[in-house]
Amino acid sequence: MTRPLPCLLLLALLGIVAALAAPKSGLKDDASCKQGYNCKLPECLCPSLEAPGNFGSLDDVPQFVVLSYDDAVTVSNKDFYLGFQNLLNPNHCRISMTFFLSHQYTDYTIVNELHRLGHEIALHSVTHKSDSVGYWRPANESLWMQEMDDLRKMIVKFANIPEKDLKGWRAPFLELGGDEMFSALQQLGLKYDCSWTTIKYTNWFEKPNQGLWPYTLDYGSPQDCPMGRCPTDKYPGLWVMPMLDLNDNKNLPCAMLDTCQSEEDELLGNKDAVEAFLKRNFLINYYTNKAPFGLYTHHSWFYEGTLNKTEARREGYTNFLLWLSTLEDVYVVSLDRLLAWMKDPKPVDQIDNIPEITCPPLDPETTCPSHNTYYFGPENNIPPQMSSMYMTTCTKPKPPYYPWLYNPYGLEDIPIQE
Ligand SMILES: [Zn+2]
Repeated sequence: MTRPLPCLLLLALLGIVAALAAPKSGLKDDASCKQGYNCKLPECLCPSLEAPGNFGSLDDVPQFVVLSYDDAVTVSNKDFYLGFQNLLNPNHCRISMTFFLSHQYTDYTIVNELHRLGHEIALHSVTHKSDSVGYWRPANESLWMQEMDDLRKMIVKFANIPEKDLKGWRAPFLELGGDEMFSALQQLGLKYDCSWTTIKYTNWFEKPNQGLWPYTLDYGSPQDCPMGRCPTDKYPGLWVMPMLDLNDNKNLPCAMLDTCQSEEDELLGNKDAVEAFLKRNFLINYYTNKAPFGLYTHHSWFYEGTLNKTEARREGYTNFLLWLSTLEDVYVVSLDRLLAWMKDPKPVDQIDNIPEITCPPLDPETTCPSHNTYYFGPENNIPPQMSSMYMTTCTKPKPPYYPWLYNPYGLEDIPIQE
């Protein structure tokens, strides 16, 4: 009866030894992915807790910060976004951000302008239906493809942006759609998803885990699955930009700033508290493994402050960005630019060898020849709950019907279903 115990102890000890001898990535589940052997950059990168590039010192690793905004780009949030135009990275190029766009209310002339100024436009569905459980959760591959591809067609046409520049996707409400969604991304030639949250692989949650770097799905994923359905198949060359949860002021995880909580509304009304919250989360990350640090939000998070007669969120966030701009190894870049670095990682003192991280001497000319605002009434097949819709685009003439899912150019007479 006493014999099995030493055996168990031995097994446990062997387990510890095996864990200590685990691959350098620090992940236990990545046995099938061997970087440099069966997975090679720029097409394949194994999931890892370490920066790619084997730089040897964390000092050589740039700290990337990613700012994204979801949903419609409109005249009411345009000035807010353009207000960050004067913030520069250490190489004196303007910071860039990612906009995950949904169709309704979007002003495509502003989308064109944001793209012209170096920001990334990415996809976030045509309909953005709010019935997450009834619509997104059971969505099949063909519905995901329709929502992605029809929006891509609309942006290409109405904002006059080259299709190749539309690389990324975020699922509405972060309702990750399992293999159906990832297979849709792969088939449409999209390059990355940024909807997959993680609590486990952050720099604040559980030791010895740390922040997960972006990786490809050539050999599956070790990532935890806190929201929606995670994929189980393999998708060679398709990148996951993991959304590392922040640690809010109640010590809870939050994937987007909008859901970060605090005692006594200090993240609503106290700009110093907002700045301190962002700095605290940033510094944990910066001093641990410098995994890309994402601040994902909606313009409505700032607007909620305005409605409550406080600009604390905008001021605290801006002050945080101003402080970041004093750090020589911190680059605020859009996800597509980060992806370019991931594929060809360079130490921070050689970062200007990555064309996507540098900037042209002058902004390009606009590619939006005219700004046209069109009115659509019920006779133009607008969404059933609306009495009218307006759409501003770079194109003429007015589409005969309101552009929507299955009808991205508005040419067909297809009534919109509820
Ligand atoms: Zn959204």
